[in-house]
Parts: sequence; C-alpha cells; structure tokens
Amino acid sequence: MREVKVVLLPGDGIGPEVVGEARRLVDRVADLDGVRVVWESHAVGGCAIDRYGIPLPEGVLEACAASDAVLLGAVGGPKWDTTSPDDPRPEQALLALRAGLGLFANLRPVKPIPALYGASPLRTERIEGTDLLVVRELTGGIYFGESGREGDRAFDTCSYTRAEIRRVAEVAFESALARRRKVTSVDKANVLESSRLWRDEVIRVAAEHPDVELEHMLVDSAAMQLVSRPADFDVIVTENLFGDILSDEAAMISGSIGMLPSASLGGHGPGLYEPVHGSAPDIANQGIANPIATCLSAALMLRYSLDAPHAALAIETAVEQVVGLGYSTRDLGGTCSTHEMGELLISAAG
Ligand code: NAD
Repeated sequence: MREVKVVLLPGDGIGPEVVGEARRLVDRVADLDGVRVVWESHAVGGCAIDRYGIPLPEGVLEACAASDAVLLGAVGGPKWDTTSPDDPRPEQALLALRAGLGLFANLRPVKPIPALYGASPLRTERIEGTDLLVVRELTGGIYFGESGREGDRAFDTCSYTRAEIRRVAEVAFESALARRRKVTSVDKANVLESSRLWRDEVIRVAAEHPDVELEHMLVDSAAMQLVSRPADFDVIVTENLFGDILSDEAAMISGSIGMLPSASLGGHGPGLYEPVHGSAPDIANQGIANPIATCLSAALMLRYSLDAPHAALAIETAVEQVVGLGYSTRDLGGTCSTHEMGELLISAAG
C-alpha cells in the first residue's frame, strides 16, 4: 500500500457534513490503486475565528504544504459577516491558502448527468453531450493588479507576464491530452494588450502540443456559445476575470450547484479540491445537503494529486449510476439525506 497524506478542512455550514461523506467514499475506493489515505483535519474559516480568533490558524498552511492534497468543504456564514475591514473574515483563509500554496490554475469540469438534464435551465437538446473543463488563471490579472482611486476616478489594472500565461496554458493543454484534445483560449485580443500577449503565448505553448487543436475565441462570443452550443467545447482556458464569469456561467449548464467540483493546482506542492458551492447556511445541520460536488472534488483529487485514476473513475461512475437510478437529495427534488446519498455512493463504488 502506498500511503498518502490528505489535509481535510471541513470549514463551516454544510462543509463538515459533505466532507464527511467524501472522506468515507475515498476510504472505500482508494485501494483500487493501492493507496491508503492518512487524513489530518484542521479548522479554517468561521469555526477557526470562533476557536482561535483568526480564519487560518498558525500551522495550517504549513500542514497543507506538507501534504499530498487538501480537501476543503466551504467557509463562511452570516455569523461572521462583517463590513469592518479590521474584523477577521472566513474567506481570508481561502485567499491565504491559494496564495500560500501557489495555486495558479482553477479547474472546473462541467458534465451534466443525463438523468438530471431536466434540472438545467437550458433545453435538453442544447446540453446533451456536454463535457467541458474550464481552466481559469487564478493568481494574476485585474484582481491582483494595481488599483486605486484619485478623486472621482477609480482604476484597476490587468497585467500578465508570459510566464504566468504559459504555466496555466500548459495545465490546459496537458488536461486536453487526456480528453478530446481541443483547447479554446478565451481573450479580448481585439481590444486588450494583455489579451494579445495571452494569445501570443498560448500559441507558443500550442506549438509544443501538436496533438491538441487550438482555437481562439473572444470572451463576448464565448459567453454566447457556452449557452448556445456547450457540447462543442472541450477545454476552455482563460484569464482570471473572464474565467470567474465564464466558469459560473458554465456551472449553470448542469443545473445544480450541489453537483459541481473544482480543483486548484500549483506548479509543485499539493492541489486544493473543493465543491463550487458555499457553506449553504440555510440548510446547515439538517443532514440534507447534497454531498456529490464534494465527492466529485475528491475524485479530481484522486486523479490529479494522488495518482489514483481507478479510484477517481469509481467515484464518478458511482455518481452517474446512483443519480441515474433516480436517487437524489432535496436540491434536485429527491428525498435522500446527505448520509443516505453517501451510503448509496459507497455501495455503488465498492
Ligand atoms: P451557497 O452556495 O452556500 O448557497 C446557495 C444556495 O444553494 C443555497 O440555497 C443553498 O442551500 C444551496 N446549496 C449550496 N450547496 C448545496 C448543496 N451541497 N446541497 C444542497 N443545496 C446547496 O452560496 P451563498 O448562499 O451565496 O453563500 C453562503 C456562504 O458560503 C457565504 O458565507 C459565502 O461567503 C460562502 N461561500 C463560500 C465559498 C467557499 O468556501 N469556497 C464559496 C461560495 C460561498
């Protein structure tokens, strides 16, 4: 057995409930790849503010950095909402973790399950066959550029270096190799200089991946095409701001936020895996949250960080089977509790 260390950050609200089910599922499937997971849990977010006065307690970042992967539930809730810039906020833990672990690429797969096509706001014939991956640059661009106010003027600056573009483009091309071998690079190169550099560098990376087809698309056109013909996309790679917007738009294709996983990867060191949804305080502690997004995040973790592809596939297949049989939690119109869904996935996977 190969031993791997995973840091578990359950967080707030439904976080501990959904992470608990994902952990049991991983423990069931990991030996398909001869892996044994050693778990180490830490408090981050609101619960850490309550206990330690800060959202990311001392030593947690170091523990994550020393692990093979990090699995996070969600952080935040009304209890810690504050408008005072001096008060600690739960999401500061996330930002510090992303920065501290150097996580520059955010991956969000979107593959609606046929049994749930009806849950999408788009017509079934539009979403049929959709299986796409949004790769978003996470640590550069306008969110991190110089910004400020001068009297009645405010500004935010978007800047990228070739190195920042290259490393995220490489993640996209590598991912495409294991998929349908097509990358759509989204920019605004008809207007923005940073986009022209983006396009230029992506073309260079593409030249090193002759087996992968590259197309360029302007962001306004991509926003339209994502809802008019989503099945035509394979891997979409884009900068931080465009990716923030497009990945949420793409998320809606599958209809339920309770189904969507994500991965954040860096150059070296562990990746961080978490559901796209938040801590859902409105349904916390009721045992009704959908654990599937977190279980699918755990599948990404097994595939990208723990070199356990069979275990990853076992989870993804179990989700399709269980949902295909008509079982679902309340967010999808079903009656399963969080724990019952976890049990169903475990029996389908094992
Ligand atoms: P949310 O995703 O928590 O909830 C939106 C709606 O979706 C709610 O009605 C909720 O009940 C439902 N929902 C979400 N996940 C679900 C699941 N697994 N099963 C069933 N239903 C689910 O978004 P929000 O309400 O805008 O934010 C709530 C809190 O979460 C806020 O404090 C926010 O800051 C935080 N948040 C955290 C993260 C994160 O930790 N990465 C991300 C987004 C929001």
